[in-house]
Order: sequence, then structure tokens, then C-alpha cells
Amino acid sequence: MSRSLRTWPRDLPWRSIARGATTSPSGGRVPADDPEPEVHAVLEQGRTSVLPAIDERSKAERVSLGDLEARSVVSVPLLARKQQLGVLTLARTERGPAYSSEDVALAEDLAARLALALDRGRLYHEVEERSDAAWVLEHVADGILLLDRLGVVRLWNPAAEAITFISTADVVGHSAAEAIPGWKTAVERVPVSASPDPGHDEVLIPIETSRGERWIAISGVRFFGGTVYAFRDLTDTRRLEEIKADFIATASHELRTPLAAVYGAAQTLLRHDFALDETGRERFVSLIADESERLGRIVNEILLANQLDAGRLDLDSEPFDAGDLVERVVEATRTHAPPSVTLEVEAPENVPQVAADADKVRQVLVNLVENAIKYSPDGGRVEVGIEERDGFLRFHVRDEGLGIAPEDQEQIFEKFYRADPQMTRGVGGTGLGLYICRELIGRMGGRIWAEPNGSKGSMFVFELPTAEVMAHGQRGGPRLQLGN
Ligand code: ADP
Repeated sequence: MSRSLRTWPRDLPWRSIARGATTSPSGGRVPADDPEPEVHAVLEQGRTSVLPAIDERSKAERVSLGDLEARSVVSVPLLARKQQLGVLTLARTERGPAYSSEDVALAEDLAARLALALDRGRLYHEVEERSDAAWVLEHVADGILLLDRLGVVRLWNPAAEAITFISTADVVGHSAAEAIPGWKTAVERVPVSASPDPGHDEVLIPIETSRGERWIAISGVRFFGGTVYAFRDLTDTRRLEEIKADFIATASHELRTPLAAVYGAAQTLLRHDFALDETGRERFVSLIADESERLGRIVNEILLANQLDAGRLDLDSEPFDAGDLVERVVEATRTHAPPSVTLEVEAPENVPQVAADADKVRQVLVNLVENAIKYSPDGGRVEVGIEERDGFLRFHVRDEGLGIAPEDQEQIFEKFYRADPQMTRGVGGTGLGLYICRELIGRMGGRIWAEPNGSKGSMFVFELPTAEVMAHGQRGGPRLQLGN
């Protein structure tokens, strides 16, 4: 029977057992789990052991290996590159002579080959693990920075490049303090722990990049060769947090104003100490009606934005007459538009029908027209128009109001974004209207954008595929994506 094992000094379990005979005087017994001290000694001393020793054969009868009675045992250390990998133990349990010096030489030769094979296997495994680690570093979304004890950058992964816009070539081999702008001051605030335990602290710090300020969440772990830092880009999350905080301030202001007006008007109507004439009563009642309607609109906007986010909105796609819709929206708005604003329609006689959710298109149009009026505090002309363009029906709402700064033209469609959050011109809002418009138009297979209206004011444009294009899918290419 022969046994081989591969292990390291402290932990020496039997790894594999092979039997060379089907029956033996010692039956099916196997050695004890923990090999004998003699086997341990072979590993520790790195020397072959033969039992009974060749010169003591005359006295010795049996050698016990745990439960196993053997006639002769050879244990050879498995050594590779001066490392102890384990012990190969051969035991003869059947009748026959004790192992000879030739047997020992054979066992040693076998052990040398085994050790070589084991070592190669281990090396291969290590190389594989390292290349896996390199892949992870290459593809992980977190930025990884490895500093040696002297603060020199040893590793800077592609995510770190992408977050900071600093190329690997510019940092690796350089001192972090010199190669990474602001690192010297920032590093003092970065928590560094001694082990990579889950849930250790990270800190949010701003860094200056060639493309503006970015906010990163960063933490470090110290090890004997230096410190490894991991960081994530939280610029967008932070911006969203700021926008949300602004939104809460704005929304509560927006809700409070009509609520206060409703409350005030109701209190006045309830007073008995002076009598209101019919006109006075009507004024207060219609104020209550208007302000309640405004409150309802704000609450609806919040609910609708929520539904859109959760993907819980079903949209119709029926052909309808857009010219008619534009006329009706303008008519309805005229009834309450301030006298300083003139509303006009620019639409050819015959425009093709569009296939979309008419109610939602009306909602978008009302929002844009209301905005045009709202952001024209000094009045002016508001024009609502439609025209056919290349399989799409293009709607526009032009005004001569405050206009939109070029840097805000994209952002105003983001949730909660208000170009004028401090309401310097006294114009209130939740910053949800245009977000809802963009979401609705996108889900109906169209697109929406803003541009300047010549030299004064702004123009909002949105396009929807015509009913014919929707039916036959002729033009429009990738813009035709209907549904949620
Ligand atoms: P709200 O009007 O409730 O703030 P919106 O989403 O409708 O929210 O609009 C977002 C921002 O876009 C507004 O705060 C405003 O700064 C800007 N904006 C929208 N429409 C116009 C317009 N017609 N003229 C100028 N700025 C506009």
C-alpha cells in the first residue's frame, strides 16, 4: 500500500491514499487522520525516513502507522524550490521483505517528480489567480489606487482614469501628491483601515479634474506594502441629492402659497363681522377654486413623475387630429392668460394625423404653453404651431420671455431641475413639468428639445411620428420606439 500527501508543515492531513493490494492482514484499516510524529518529522527535517531503519532490521518486527500495522515504511519529503510541499509515505502491509535501499531510491525519485508536478500546479494556479485579479482591476467600475509606502502610485486602473481624467501614464511611478491634484489635502480626510472589513467608513470629497469638479466616495486599506484606495464617482448622485433638497424646498413653497390663499379666502368668507357683497363673495370663491386647482396640479405632477419612474404608465396609440388639439389647448389657455400675453396658432390647413396618446400629448402641450406664459413675466407673443417633417409631426411653442441659458437647455428636462431655483423673477414651479414632457414624448416614439427663439425668449419643439409612419414603420428609424 502506498500513500502520498501534499500539505504545509502545520496542517498535514492525508490527501490521497492508494492501495496496492486488495486483501491484507490488516484488513481495510487506514492510518489515523493526523499522521504520526515520524511523518511530521520528515516534513520538518526535509529528510527521508525508513522504518525499521535498514541497520535495525534484525530487532524490529512491525511498524505501526496509527491503526495500521506495517512491515516496512518509507517517508520521503516532497520538496520543490526549497519549499516543503508534503510527504510521500509508502507502507508495506503484506508479507515480504522490508523496503530496500533501491526501494528508497525509487521512492525518492518518485517524490522528486511528484513535488515538481505539485509545484507546477501550484504556480499555474497562482498565475491564474493573478490574471483573474488583473481582469477584475481592469473591468471593475471602482477606481483603484495603490500607493507604496513612500506614497508612489503603483497601480491606477481604467476606472480611476475614467473618473479623474488622469491617464495611467501620468500617475504610475509618480508621487500621488504631485500627480493627483488636491491629493495632499484630500488624503488627510480619507479613512484608512487596517483590514478590508465590510462596512468601513468612506468619505465624500471633491476633486478637480480637467473637466470640472467631481465628487468621489473613497476609503483606503493599509497593508504591509502600502495602501490601496478604492473610490466611486458620486457626482451625479450628489447632484441629485442637491436637486432633491431644492425640490423639497420648492415643492413645500409651491404647496404653501396656494394653501395659504385658500385658507385666507375661506376665513374671509366665514367672517360675520362684515358683509361681503355678491362680487366680493364670487372673487373669494373663484380664488379658492383656482388655488385648489393649482394644488391639485402640483400633486398630480408629483404622482405622474413617480408613475413614470416606476414604469407604471400605460399609453394609448390612436390616430388623432393634432390641428384640432392645438386649437383647443390655445382656446382653453386664452381664458386665463394674462392680458399682456397674446396667444397665436400657426398651423397649415391639412396636417397628417399622429398616432399617440391624445390626452398625454394635450398634457405636454398645456405644460409648454403654461410655461411659455409663466416664463414671460413681461408678457409677449406666444405661438403654438405644427408642421409635418419627414414622417413626423413637429409641434412648437415659442415665447418672447426670459429665455434659457445655453448651458441649461439640456438640463431643464431633468427631474426637479429648475434654471431659476431661487425664483429671482418670482416664478414658481416644481421642476417636474419638462421631465414629465420628455418622458411622455419619448415613450410615444418622439423627442423633445429646447432652443432659443431668435434673439428673445425660447422655443420648445417636440416631434411625434405620423399615424401613417406608425402603421407602416416607414421612416424615423431608431426614434420609433413605442411603449414603456
Ligand atoms: P417648473 O416650471 O415647474 O420649474 P419645468 O420642468 O416645467 O418646471 O421647467 C424646468 C425649468 O425650465 C424651469 O424652472 C425654467 O427655469 C425653465 N423653463 C421652462 N420653460 C421655460 C420657458 N418657456 N422659458 C424659460 N425658461 C423655461
